Amino acid sequence: MHHAIVTGAGKGIGKAIVEKLAAAGFSVVFNARSADDLQILERQLQAQYPQQDFWGIPADMSDKAEVLRFAELALNKLQQVHLLVNNAGVFRPGAISEEEDGSFELQINTNLASAYHLTRAILPNLRQAEKALIVNMCSTASITAYVNGGSYCISKFALLGMSRVLREELKTTQVAVTSLLPGATLTNSWAGTSLPESRFMKPSDVAEIVLHAWDLSPSAVLEEVLMRPIEGDFD
Ligand code: NAP
Repeated sequence: MHHAIVTGAGKGIGKAIVEKLAAAGFSVVFNARSADDLQILERQLQAQYPQQDFWGIPADMSDKAEVLRFAELALNKLQQVHLLVNNAGVFRPGAISEEEDGSFELQINTNLASAYHLTRAILPNLRQAEKALIVNMCSTASITAYVNGGSYCISKFALLGMSRVLREELKTTQVAVTSLLPGATLTNSWAGTSLPESRFMKPSDVAEIVLHAWDLSPSAVLEEVLMRPIEGDFD
């Protein structure tokens, strides 16, 4: 049986990834800050897939100590990790010159530092697996300087940088690294939008790519995947 860790999975893209992995036979440890969301998902999956194990562990990924505590708990549950999905992220739109104080630190810590610290904590275990994969949830904001993108863009450019460095470092190992760059996907991040549903991708579209990346043979890696809604970015 294969085992995965997915961060930021109470809702949205992370939840869709956990659901896809569960359907593909994985046992999964996942987190978010809201214990209620985690409990609902854990119960739903346990009822659907009684042969597998699911643990929703509350953790604030913007806090290094909590990331390390979560890593330890996850490793206690899963003896061998095969797939790590660094998905936790927050989106606070705003121009660099106008965003509120603390927006930079919040987004750097949640979107970048969490992935850095968790990867370092889990990597020695991933190295023991026959085949392993790290997926970093980047964004079109990793390669596009959006007006009002502010610190979100900064954090996602940096996450893609980290992901590319990691890929180079791990080229000679059996650990593949995928940088996933989705465009607008309809989740809570877009709550209150006046745009129609048709301008967005679905969380399950993004989740599907994680599974495709995993399903490749050990001799291939999906290094970078850029996805956009069919009508492209917003103007
Ligand atoms: P979402 O619907 O807002 O869900 C985010 C999930 O992450 C929630 O379960 C949230 O739960 C959790 N989370 C937030 N902060 C956290 C923290 N500090 N520690 C642990 N968990 C935390 O977001 P999403 O749109 O699915 O985005 C998921 C990832 O995809 C993010 O990295 C985002 O940047 C990226 N992305 C999204 C889009 C898009 O258009 N939606 C496009 C490109 C990339 P709690 O609030 O309970 O913690």
